[in-house]
Amino acid sequence: MPAADRRPLMKMPGYVVRTLEKIEQNGYEAYVVGGCVRDAMLGRRVHDWDITTSAPAWETEKLFPHSVLTGERFGTVTVLTGGRQIEVTTYRTDGEYTDSRHPEGVVFVSDIRTDLERRDFTMNAMAVDLRGELLDPFGGREDIADRLIRCVGSPERRFTEDALRMLRAVRFSAQLGFGIERETMDALRRCAHLVSALSAERVRDETEKTIMSQRPEKLYTALEARLYEPFCGTAEIPETAEKLLAALGDLPRSRQARWCGLCAVLTEENVISCAADFLRQFRLDARTVSAAAKGCRIVVNGMPEERMELKRILAAEWRDTAFSAAAVADALHGGCRVKTLNEIAGSGECIRRSDLAVSGNDLRKELGIPQGVHMGDILQQLFEHVLAFPKDNTRKRLLKLAEKLADD
Ligand code: ATP
Ligand code: MG
Repeated sequence: MPAADRRPLMKMPGYVVRTLEKIEQNGYEAYVVGGCVRDAMLGRRVHDWDITTSAPAWETEKLFPHSVLTGERFGTVTVLTGGRQIEVTTYRTDGEYTDSRHPEGVVFVSDIRTDLERRDFTMNAMAVDLRGELLDPFGGREDIADRLIRCVGSPERRFTEDALRMLRAVRFSAQLGFGIERETMDALRRCAHLVSALSAERVRDETEKTIMSQRPEKLYTALEARLYEPFCGTAEIPETAEKLLAALGDLPRSRQARWCGLCAVLTEENVISCAADFLRQFRLDARTVSAAAKGCRIVVNGMPEERMELKRILAAEWRDTAFSAAAVADALHGGCRVKTLNEIAGSGECIRRSDLAVSGNDLRKELGIPQGVHMGDILQQLFEHVLAFPKDNTRKRLLKLAEKLADD
């Protein structure tokens, strides 16, 4: 083997190496596995180092004083080491799947190959030991080199076992810029209807990762393959949706902005008719539903570009709703609304009623206007005036104006 091939595949942090060492020193096998191997191979930042081991969970727990059995059913122990957390899971295989969602139970096994076999894609079914030795029984390294997402084993069987894998395939293709291998894609189309068995939260999490990625247009693959029929209904997905979804890649990485953008695209393409109803199905928090749906309405109604109009929107809406809508409208229809909003927000001009130079109390004390509907009307008129004439936001001018309004 040439020297270059013997070089360790990846640099593991010290706490990971020490954890692997300790398990091995106690007579068990241990490997880093799954997403961390994939990401390290790709030169991406690894966010979680997961370990798979022949040690039963109760042994792992004994080896590490700072550890907690976090997933007894799955044989997972969370080890706290060097201020970091690392999940150590016993080799296992999944039991029978009967509902396209979760296995009936898990079975612990003695060899790592069986553990790798239960994993979803070849790129996620690799393991590396302390010495950098790679176990790659399904050709994950080659698929990574070819930038391909391929199921381990029969794609149709794997998607029938757990329908979430279809959404994971789309999500990884968006995050990594990989294609979905042909047989895997064909099976995805055939098994699309199984998504209806999944919980809304699981679909939401994968969808959010897809639209938060650099390539939200990969969601088109899923829409076109009818994975989202339980959420969007049977409406045709026009090809133009792909380009519009791609434009969402320029949005800020804010959840609200991205959900707002998705709703705007689906509404403009006549795939959905009510953004709030669409979003609620995913059990998103009420604030995100409200802000994204409102932002969507602003965009699809044709968000103006004029400064004064944008200022009115900023005054009337939550700040993040206005900014999300502006970013989506700019991305989909061109323009520089975000820039204008930033300029307005930084100008110090009055955009909230609380920024007015006079309060209700001032009107009562200085002009004898009683508390009530009339007072509310006057304050609102003062506010509208100041939105249009920011320089008039002084106590003197507003009292004078209020006096006139009170007399009318
Ligand atoms: P990331 O954490 O970056 O989103 P990941 O691949 O680490 O990606 P996790 O959900 O953390 O994803 O799962 C860890 C590993 O567990 C995966 O790499 C894969 O080997 C396996 N896995 C996760 N979900 C499934 C699933 N639904 N079916 C089969 N294997 C899975
Ligand atoms: Mg992970």
